[in-house]
Amino acid sequence: MPGIIDEFVRNVNNADHAMAITFVFLDGVGMAPSTPNNPLSTTPMDHLHALLGGPLTSESSPSRRGLLLRPIDAALGVDGLPQSGTGHVALLAGVNAPAMHGRHQPNFPPVALRPLLAERSLFRLALQAGHAVAFANAFGPGYWQAVAARRIRRSASVIAAEGAGLPLRDLDDLRAGRALSWDITRQAIHERGEGDGIPLVAPELAGEHLADLARAHGLVFFECFLPDLAGHGRMGAGGVPDALARIDGLLGGLLAARAPADTIMITSDHGNIEDSSTSSHTRNPVPLLVVGPTAEQFAAVGRIDEVAPAILAAL
Ligand SMILES: [Zn+2]
Repeated sequence: MPGIIDEFVRNVNNADHAMAITFVFLDGVGMAPSTPNNPLSTTPMDHLHALLGGPLTSESSPSRRGLLLRPIDAALGVDGLPQSGTGHVALLAGVNAPAMHGRHQPNFPPVALRPLLAERSLFRLALQAGHAVAFANAFGPGYWQAVAARRIRRSASVIAAEGAGLPLRDLDDLRAGRALSWDITRQAIHERGEGDGIPLVAPELAGEHLADLARAHGLVFFECFLPDLAGHGRMGAGGVPDALARIDGLLGGLLAARAPADTIMITSDHGNIEDSSTSSHTRNPVPLLVVGPTAEQFAAVGRIDEVAPAILAAL
């Protein structure tokens, strides 16, 4: 059976396509008012500000064709602070994962929800509908060793990709510009000692690499954990502006290289970086930012578990 799936994936990947949706998942970005405690309002983000006419805060409500920005709920009716484990499942499988699990779960998906994630993910449903799908992140040997040693568990995205029979990109793909590092500039790969022959890149170039993937696929997914790490204070002094600068550069490169028929969709799983008065997550809504011809089709999305169904409807 794996051979049949490989062939199916290869055929789909070779198919022509008219348009693409690129889903940029930013972990830990909420939408809050413009205050001195909101780094999204106080940090220069030239590309994003040019797009929106100002910072990515609650006050921002750009209204023009092909551009949508709205706050969407990440708490999903469950008490406590929204967390990544259940939030990722909600985004990738389009289900109210915290309600099913009974609480928000940090880090990795609840074990009981893994089969559902493997069987009903955005990746699998998009492939079944005939769209070529690319999971843009590169995974080096260090990741798989950490999984094998049980130092980390599989991410929601990896469970979804494996369940869909979707190939995961590696360091050769990264070297060739066919993949991205989760931290955009590849510093993390070098810090792990896996950076031989893999030059650091400017965030704008990483954005171009992401745009290139949209030329051969109908759905492209990239996930970045920088804002959550920075919001938790785990990137050290200067971590927050560094994270936001890398994201802004990525979006600048991606927007500049976007084909007119393609759509870029950016959202998050919970707030964190938008409130520097706390190093915890927040219950703030998260931004749903969509640029491109299908932007208006996301106007009814009000919660993070409505994102995946909206993508599938727009493809
Ligand atoms: Zn998260």
